[in-house]
Amino acid sequence: MTIKIYDSKARSKRGFVPEHPGEVRMYVCGPTVYNYIHIGNARTFISFDTIRRYLEWRGFKVTFVQNVTDVDDKIIKKANEEGTTADAIAQFYTEAFVSDMRAAGVKDPDVRPKATEEIPAMIELVKLLIERGHAYETQGDVYFDVRSYPAYGELSGRNIDEMESGHRELRADGQGLEDRKRDPLDFALWKAAKPGEPSWESPWGQGRPGWHIECSAMSKKYLDLPFDIHGGGADLCFPHHENERAQSEAAYGVTFNNYWMHGGMLNINNEKMSKSLGNFLLLRDVLETTPAAVLRMLMLQTHYRSPLDFSDERLRESETALSRIRNFATNTAWAADNASDDVEGAGLDAEALQAAIAGLREGFAEAMDDDFNTAGALGCVFTFVNEANALVGACTLRPADAELLHQAVDAVVELLAVLGVSLEEESVDQDCPAEIFELASAVAGYEGGNGDEAIQALLDARAAARKEKNWAVADSVRDGFAAAGFVIEDTPQGARVSRK
Ligand code: AMP
Ligand code: ZN
Repeated sequence: MTIKIYDSKARSKRGFVPEHPGEVRMYVCGPTVYNYIHIGNARTFISFDTIRRYLEWRGFKVTFVQNVTDVDDKIIKKANEEGTTADAIAQFYTEAFVSDMRAAGVKDPDVRPKATEEIPAMIELVKLLIERGHAYETQGDVYFDVRSYPAYGELSGRNIDEMESGHRELRADGQGLEDRKRDPLDFALWKAAKPGEPSWESPWGQGRPGWHIECSAMSKKYLDLPFDIHGGGADLCFPHHENERAQSEAAYGVTFNNYWMHGGMLNINNEKMSKSLGNFLLLRDVLETTPAAVLRMLMLQTHYRSPLDFSDERLRESETALSRIRNFATNTAWAADNASDDVEGAGLDAEALQAAIAGLREGFAEAMDDDFNTAGALGCVFTFVNEANALVGACTLRPADAELLHQAVDAVVELLAVLGVSLEEESVDQDCPAEIFELASAVAGYEGGNGDEAIQALLDARAAARKEKNWAVADSVRDGFAAAGFVIEDTPQGARVSRK
């Protein structure tokens, strides 16, 4: 089966053929580091992390490059507001970005180049563009000559003659940038230094790079052209990606990349997220109260290209959905390990469970092969959990079933890990509330600090109480668990506890 990718430039799904067999080279534009990242940024980064994990699982050797834009007007503005240097701002928010990404279960890229450390490569590229007649210098600025690259506008589907020029940017001396351009559509590759701003030596005097040039220089340096997949949020398609493509193809005379992928925007309660609407959520604030696995479940239940609606209600739904899967995994593993030959009743329909596991793996890969349909892939996991729960619930398990039951659990754990959703993150133990410890102390005399032990002590005390027909104690244990959000299940293998 081939993987199909929706290519924004072709505006259709295309079968994925890597430039080098067995390898995928991908570049995903990174953040401008002037603030903590918000959950909209996180959505885009989680989408591409999932795509990368899936390609790896499918056996490709993936090289993933993501830049950090650490020189930019917004960083300079923030530094001025806070009375510090642009460097200090960029360094602080780069570190915050890295730790936020890790907290969200996003894998580190293979290379994370910083713009400020790649200035020589950018200068070389600008020189090449001037040499080849695609760029010109004027008063220390260098501009890309848009009309020298006939394919300009192809990526974003714009007609060059209908395009408006970019917004008018005023320089410190009051002169408009446009005044220096030959054509209003031309964009800056290099900007002459302004007083008090970070700048570097260049053939055109002191200055700093324009925004787009860094991605062209870094993708060439770390991936070479044409690379396979270029990604980012839909808002980057124009002008950023259009300009990257123009620069790279004009300079090197080869295709820039083979597939363009753009993720949809995240909205909050169906409104655009913005500071002025007061609905602006930082990733780190969300992760303070929400486990990363729950956040990823929410995000992955929407296809990466569709707009995503974020709300507390959807978070709660994702939490419930995740608990269902977790409960299946813990209950089934426990039942497998506690199976006994000393029971009566119908045995497990092993053939049906085997078929369900095979169906899960097949359905998951089919959904993901279809332009990374994570919602469809999760749907397969939910269907499987229902099927497996029904099969397990309809029989009495024997030790001979244990291996197959573990295979069922392993398949779910493995496939969720491909989506970056860890089932291990929150065990009942980590989550064991104080009420359970208090109850364990009162009813069972347990004074330790281990949640699993406290729960077991309570179950043992309940079993003993039931044997003695001491219903008051047995009921107090059941009610205590219920109040703390757990249920006791009595199974042929004994009693066990799971989250409600
Ligand atoms: P920036 O730092 O603004 O360049 O954004 C970094 C990444 O986050 C880019 O790929 C953007 O497309 C993406 N992004 C920004 N806002 C949103 C949003 N509301 N929803 C999804 N992705 C976003
Ligand atoms: Zn970029």
